[in-house]
Amino acid sequence: MTTSRTPSSVDPTAFRFDCGAVWLNLLATRGRTFSAKPVERIATPERLMEWLTRVELAPARTATDDDLTRAHELRESLRALALASVDEEPPPAGAAADLTAFLSEHDAPARLSVDTRLHRESPVTATEALARIARQAVEQLTTADRLALKVCPEDDCRGVFVDPVGRRRWCPSPACASRGRVRALRARRAETG
Ligand SMILES: [Zn+2]
Repeated sequence: MTTSRTPSSVDPTAFRFDCGAVWLNLLATRGRTFSAKPVERIATPERLMEWLTRVELAPARTATDDDLTRAHELRESLRALALASVDEEPPPAGAAADLTAFLSEHDAPARLSVDTRLHRESPVTATEALARIARQAVEQLTTADRLALKVCPEDDCRGVFVDPVGRRRWCPSPACASRGRVRALRARRAETG
């Protein structure tokens, strides 16, 4: 469906890369997170490999079931930390300690090289790739960059995205914006009778 303007509404398992950072796009690998039927976009190690390749973090070794479990766990703990940050609430107990432990286990130095652009040596495993993503999340959540984060107001979505100029209301998913606008329109009509 290359002609569609909203491919994600055609295939709900299509990846999303429009949230403003790799770690936020990881959060978006689960769609409609707070609905009765969330959409899992990385359901297999193969899909995890595919996703890591798309974000330019393809590991040297093929992803395993353990990597997949780690990806899902990390994604949900980063989501909890991100939502707490935007909602200005204390993060869930244990989340920071878990993340500290995970990052100290995976503390690979950055080996950089240059050809036509800057490169970092590929991660060896998918879990190492996930640790890089976790670090990116930590940097964003513990610096002034956190102030650019916003949460989609759709109850079943609550997608986190970067909105540096503070102008966006809904997450970049076209479905959220259109549902929200339809609801706002109905409310206005009800008001005016
Ligand atoms: Zn949304």
